[in-house]
Amino acid sequence: MSAVFVFLEAQDGRLKKGGLELLSWAKSQGLDCHAGLIGKDLSQAASSAGHYGAKTVSVCELSSAGYNPLTYVSVLKEMVSASGAKIILANASMLARDAFPRLAARLDSGIASDCTGLKLESSKVVATKPLYSGKCTAEVEFLGDSLSIVLMRSNQLPVSSPDDSLKAEIKNISAPAPSDSLQLEKVVQGESNKPDLTEANVIISGGRGLGEAKNFEILEDLASTLGATVGASRAVVDAGWVPHGMQVGQTGKTVSPSLYIACGISGAIQHMAGMSGSKVIVAINKDADAPIFQKSSYGIVGDIFELAGPLKEELKKALHH
Ligand code: FAD
Repeated sequence: MSAVFVFLEAQDGRLKKGGLELLSWAKSQGLDCHAGLIGKDLSQAASSAGHYGAKTVSVCELSSAGYNPLTYVSVLKEMVSASGAKIILANASMLARDAFPRLAARLDSGIASDCTGLKLESSKVVATKPLYSGKCTAEVEFLGDSLSIVLMRSNQLPVSSPDDSLKAEIKNISAPAPSDSLQLEKVVQGESNKPDLTEANVIISGGRGLGEAKNFEILEDLASTLGATVGASRAVVDAGWVPHGMQVGQTGKTVSPSLYIACGISGAIQHMAGMSGSKVIVAINKDADAPIFQKSSYGIVGDIFELAGPLKEELKKALHH
């Protein structure tokens, strides 16, 4: 049986969804699944990885929860080698996007990042990867005998139900000595306690059509009704209305929620590059010819200021039934 190594990330003792999608996929393919966790206070997350099908979980407890690329890459290299896996999977989080290309260089292996599909062909992994800002997709194969590293976007694969009777063998890996060449000074927490945009299942984004910074409160209000995370176009980030962490697009974040609601966003190609992988796109724009409508599953031609109130009431009704 082929072995796969899945890198997991945890927050507050819970495994993040992107990693669970990959564990579930590996289990559904009948692969021998090994997982790895690096960070702080990981015991709860490590044992729950077993319920999703990991046979072994390598755990490296660090003294600080902050990300240090050199520490992570050295621990990952050890974990991957010990697992004997040829297929290495991780969610395409900000951390993984930084750590795994470094790991690929160290291991002299190929890497396909920001992928949206995974399949096995003759025990080798084939990944689907959007190209040219989502205008087309490529199927990526790994040639030769090197390792195959694939970073998958969130919300692309189903998560299976946990099976409490399944248990993983936990292997503790000691943390390497701190690096002299790169040290973490401090971690600045974001203000929001909502899921990060790249992991969110529902996103409501605002653009220049909102008129001014204060009007983002309208979106925050709708977002709390829906349990959504708020995003933005670059125009409003450049105008200083919202922080850059909220920007969706080519020079912002690539998101892949089940539902993306774009309010007062025209649909420039650079914005679409970051959100065209959303399963359902709803656009609200007062210009019927706005390009965003060409890519939307549903479009509402109208003024966001008139529509927000009734929309919130309808959402409340729908969610309470
Ligand atoms: P606009 O294009 O000004 O659109 C505003 C929309 O709001 C209009 O369609 C209008 O009809 C509508 N509207 C106005 N009033 C209302 C109302 N009351 N109710 C409803 N609708 C209303 N952009 C990104 O978003 N992300 C990126 O990562 C990004 N990267 C870029 C990288 C490069 C190299 C370049 C050159 C550009 C990049 N851009 C990016 C900018 C992009 O080209 C657009 O300028 C930007 O996306 C426009 O933002 P917007 O849709 O909010 O504003």
